[in-house]
Amino acid sequence: MLIIIVASIISQLIFYLCPVIKTEQMSAQQNPTDTFVNEMNTWHGQTLGIKTVEALRKNRFEASFFETRLETANAVIEMISPGMEVAFGGSQTARQLNLQQLVLDKGATILDHNAAGLSDDQKMEVMRRQQICDVFICSSNAISIQGELFNIDGHGNRVAAMAFGPRRVIVIAGVNKLVADEDAAWQRIRTVAAPINFKRLNRPNPCTKQGICMNCNLPTRGCNIYVATRRKPPMMDFSVFIVNDSLGF
Ligand code: SF4
Repeated sequence: MLIIIVASIISQLIFYLCPVIKTEQMSAQQNPTDTFVNEMNTWHGQTLGIKTVEALRKNRFEASFFETRLETANAVIEMISPGMEVAFGGSQTARQLNLQQLVLDKGATILDHNAAGLSDDQKMEVMRRQQICDVFICSSNAISIQGELFNIDGHGNRVAAMAFGPRRVIVIAGVNKLVADEDAAWQRIRTVAAPINFKRLNRPNPCTKQGICMNCNLPTRGCNIYVATRRKPPMMDFSVFIVNDSLGF
């Protein structure tokens, strides 16, 4: 009788624990379909990334393609020297690469218009100084495979610095920001980049409820200046780094 009871308990334990064991095994091992999907996405990123870099070079940008975040961050930091003044254009991509800390570690100074405790006047003053910094680092809302950059801006400080002023501009973009052409670039900005960015900023704009641009006219609208950068500005050093990863939005 005892043997029957023990066998029954063991069988029930196996019944209840097996799904847990299977799930843990699945998460410990890579799902073969995940591996295959990753390989396909890596191929697609490489193909579009390299094509875009070639187009950017034809448009006279210094462009490079990197497979990893680490390679990209190293390439950026090689361009930074101690004592330089470096500014960032509100880039989540730069934060994902930990560039702010790496720049400080290199002995450069950061002009940060989002530093805690700044009044509007002080913030404006920092943004004005950013326009003539040594290196301005930002991302782009979209980059077409024709090698052109597309951006919207609220205050205009980011797109102004991308157009003229800093000694060097470095634009870093994940392959998730590559698009087929100009129409697709503005489409990406209306449906992905802007709504997520204003959600990040906790704006009460309709895009943060609908998930796409509703062309609002609120004072909190952040889409005021629309800029296409079709060729490198002639007197600036301008690097565009494409990373085979999904970065920012
Ligand atoms: S125009 Fe208004 S609704 Fe459209 S993305 Fe910009 S802030 Fe959002």
